[in-house]
Amino acid sequence: DERIVSPESAGDDVYEATIRPENLESFVGQEQVRESLSIAIEAAKMRGEPLDHILFSGPPGLGKTTLANIIANEMDSAIKTTTGPVLEKPGDVAALLTALKRGDILFIDEIHRINSVVEEILYPAMEDLFIDIMIGEGPSARSVKLNLEHFTLIGATTKQGLLGSPFRDRFGIILRLSLYTPEELKKIVLRSASILKIEITYEGAGEIAARSRGTPRIANRLLRRVRDYASVKGDGTVTEEIASGALAMLQIDEIGLDELDRRILSVISDDFDGGPVGVKTIAISVGEEVRTIEDVYEPYLIQIGFIKRTPQGRETTPAAKEHLLLSGK
Ligand code: ADP
Repeated sequence: DERIVSPESAGDDVYEATIRPENLESFVGQEQVRESLSIAIEAAKMRGEPLDHILFSGPPGLGKTTLANIIANEMDSAIKTTTGPVLEKPGDVAALLTALKRGDILFIDEIHRINSVVEEILYPAMEDLFIDIMIGEGPSARSVKLNLEHFTLIGATTKQGLLGSPFRDRFGIILRLSLYTPEELKKIVLRSASILKIEITYEGAGEIAARSRGTPRIANRLLRRVRDYASVKGDGTVTEEIASGALAMLQIDEIGLDELDRRILSVISDDFDGGPVGVKTIAISVGEEVRTIEDVYEPYLIQIGFIKRTPQGRETTPAAKEHLLLSGK
């Protein structure tokens, strides 16, 4: 969709490749994740062995794909990238696995969306480096065992809970990414601006950071939109004033909420008197999918303390109510 503050990749982010950090050093924030990875990488290198399988979880746009590529760089490994929904048949995943050489990395994005048949091929592949696949059909079909080279699987998921425990247990390293602080996002904006040769003030960067919903992908996208505004309405420099003017024009409020966020809050707060309301009801009321509400909108609204998840459903907090009142809803 057209949503500017969506943390999901829109495919139009042509600059993503240029501004993506290439090593752990230039990856901002996620201190614990970086620490665990750097130790695992160093240890694997010392032993001369491939890395353990790694699972990243966390909302979209926080750097899971970036980290997978950084790991490949740091390990000096080749990386092959695919996504869960693309792996439909056992043959799809078998072809990928058998082509891997020792130390190669297979990165599966949206790994919670692979089907159970493919998942079962991955089990022995991850654990014992072989796959069993059926060749032929009908009475002449037979199972063949193929040995694999020692590879590393890196999976990324927006929802760790959607991965069954037998699958999750096969990852030696499980790392959870959390939303970034405004300070960290400011660093990311300044770094991207310098790569893209955009003139920006600290305050301008702070303004963008504050409205980026804890998400680097959104910060980078807002930076580009603000840049356009700066060249048309100003002298090209992104100042605090330019940034807030541009973001107001894009209908993104001071804390990064857009129209749909405000509608979600208003459904719970006004239509259902603060909740609790089931997520399905909310989804229907605002015309979005449950998955989108849960993966894309809710994490930030929960993080800033506007929505609470209870066993009965979602509730809005007084802070959310106040924000709605102030923004004239
Ligand atoms: P995910 O795979 O979690 O959806 P990505 O790895 O594709 O997220 O990251 C989205 C964008 O945000 C990338 O363009 C990347 O450059 C940027 N990014 C993510 N994390 C960081 C970070 N820690 N420091 C700098 N840039 C980042």
